[in-house]
This record gives sequence, structure tokens and C-alpha cells, in this order.
Amino acid sequence: MIDKIVVMIGPPGAGKGTQARQLAEHYHIPQISTGDILREMARLETKLGLELKTIMASGELVSDEVLASVIQTRTTQPDCIGGYILDGYPRTPSQARTLEKLARGQGKDVRLVSVEISRDALMRRLTGRRTCSKCGEIYNIYFRPTRQEGQCDLCSGELTHRADDKEETVGTRLTAYEQKTAPLIQYFREIGRLVGVNGERPVAEVFTEICAALEN
Ligand SMILES: [Zn+2]
Repeated sequence: MIDKIVVMIGPPGAGKGTQARQLAEHYHIPQISTGDILREMARLETKLGLELKTIMASGELVSDEVLASVIQTRTTQPDCIGGYILDGYPRTPSQARTLEKLARGQGKDVRLVSVEISRDALMRRLTGRRTCSKCGEIYNIYFRPTRQEGQCDLCSGELTHRADDKEETVGTRLTAYEQKTAPLIQYFREIGRLVGVNGERPVAEVFTEICAALEN
């Protein structure tokens, strides 16, 4: 338990998901994905659940106000007492301010953990990725090449390069990510709650650095 609210962000391919899972396990705290809890709560026959069901069925975006009560409802569950990890919330400085208020009420501190990676490194990680068309095993021509080029080590299936992992798509996704998260990062930097880590190093090293930052 760390008694903190950890907000995780990072561009696709930086290893944010892996770090979040390890943190949850290490500190015995839940990992809460906004998308998951919205779907979960929409199934409940509560006032909030029914409201959500209507909003989601209409295809509209869930308002900040409703989102805040969903987060509050979920994080007052007993498993959140020792802290929790948020994924997908907050996305804007305004939502971050709401979370700060919630955190104060819960007697916890918020930290924004931003897993950073340079454009070059991300390109190598993602554009080098190859997936087996038969068994789904993932390789990387730079970091984890197959014994036979273009052929899966496990089942000899043909390796494919997903459209999502092509250089242009990766670049576009990274730019979109940077634009979307800049105000949030700026907000947490100003209030001294930003933990920036270099995600280019080995997973275990990144993890140790995040833990050290969260524990002080
Ligand atoms: Zn295979």
C-alpha cells in the first residue's frame, strides 16, 4: 500500500500497461480503467447505473460531472483504501482539479506517472514488431528476431507487419498523444506532482524508478 492515487499515462508502446500491472501487484492496489468501470456500472440497477446506460446507449460522451461521480463511487470501495491506479482519467486539467478534491477528501496524494519515450525509440519498438499470423506470437526485428527471417520460431507461421505498427501511423499516434496530454502534464508539473520516467530502459529499471518516486 502506498496511500497514493497514481495516474498513469504514456504513448502506445512505451510500456505503461506493463508498469501499471506491476505496480498494482507490488502495492496490492487496484488498477482502475475508466472504460471498464463505466461499462461495469452501466450494468447496475442504481440511479447512476441507469443514467450511464442511457448516456452510453445514445452514443453521447459521459459528462465530467457524471464521470466524477463514477470515479468517486468506485474509489470509495474498500479495496481502494491503500491507494489505487487510474487509467484513462483524468484527461484534462479540469478533471485533474476534480480528482485533487476527491483525493483530499480521501486523505491521499495524487501523482501523475508519465512514461516517456523518444520518437526514435518508439519507432524501433513498434515498427520492428512482427506478429505470427498463426499463433499470435510477437517478435521484433531489432530486439527479438526470429531464427528464420519472416518465420515464427514456435509454429513456423508467417510473420506479418500490422498496419498499426507502420512508421507513419506510429508518428501520427504519437503526435496526437503529445497534443492531448500536454495540458495535463503541464498541470501536474505546476503543482509538483509529476513523475516523469524514461521508458526506454529495461522494464525492471523503470519500475524501480517509479516505486522510488512514489514512496518519497
Ligand atoms: Zn507462430
